[in-house]
Amino acid sequence: CGIVGVISAKPVQKILINGLQKLEYRGYDSAGIFVNSARNGQHVVKTVGKIAALKAQLTPAVEGTMGIGHTRWATNGAPTDANAHPQYSADERFYLVHNGVITNAAALKDQYLTGVPFKSQTDTEVVVQLVAKFVADEGLTPAAAFYKTLNLLQGSYAFVLADAEDPNTLYAAKNKSPLLVGIGEGAYYVGSDAMAMIDQTKQFKALQDGDVVIMHQDELTITDLAGDFVHRDTFTANIDA
Ligand code: GLU
Repeated sequence: CGIVGVISAKPVQKILINGLQKLEYRGYDSAGIFVNSARNGQHVVKTVGKIAALKAQLTPAVEGTMGIGHTRWATNGAPTDANAHPQYSADERFYLVHNGVITNAAALKDQYLTGVPFKSQTDTEVVVQLVAKFVADEGLTPAAAFYKTLNLLQGSYAFVLADAEDPNTLYAAKNKSPLLVGIGEGAYYVGSDAMAMIDQTKQFKALQDGDVVIMHQDELTITDLAGDFVHRDTFTANIDA
């Protein structure tokens, strides 16, 4: 299973697919992407099966300047198209990819999301529905809703979250599942390992448990779960694409 994300000025479909192919060795049963751009709108494509099956469903229109991609190793819910990631909120505003397991997802669903329609059996959908609910019902900003949600979760996660209404921001977080930030030129990347991004950059920051990342095309912010800034060293990876 694996994750890749990119926020750039350039088209991202190929970067996402190449990244996912580099993560195939980790094992997976499903794959999917979400892309967004101010000009081209939003597109989500996901399927059970191999990345070849995902590629077969992609058209040139599935393009954007930011995107997230996922290979899934099912833990909560069978390997089906509906359970493939990205998972998205009922209002189709927030899109989330996730590696790991949220152990209190069922309890959070009962506590906060009664009456919300669900499309999947995943723990991941609970998380993205919580973010959407805190924005829609409590008037929180997406960033504040993401922090609030993260602070409710138990279990493991590497997350990358996209807001369909904001193609200039990507959110990420890590706890007990691997996640690195890649630093490009006029672009930022995020992925489960450096290989997923090595075609684009050799400069990385390894995230630590509890890190929350907010990325714009030209700006990177890393905080802890309370929102306080943290510093993560940049290192250069000595590996060839
Ligand atoms: N728990 C999530 C699911 O079953 C993520 C699994 C993964 O790590 O790929 O959909």
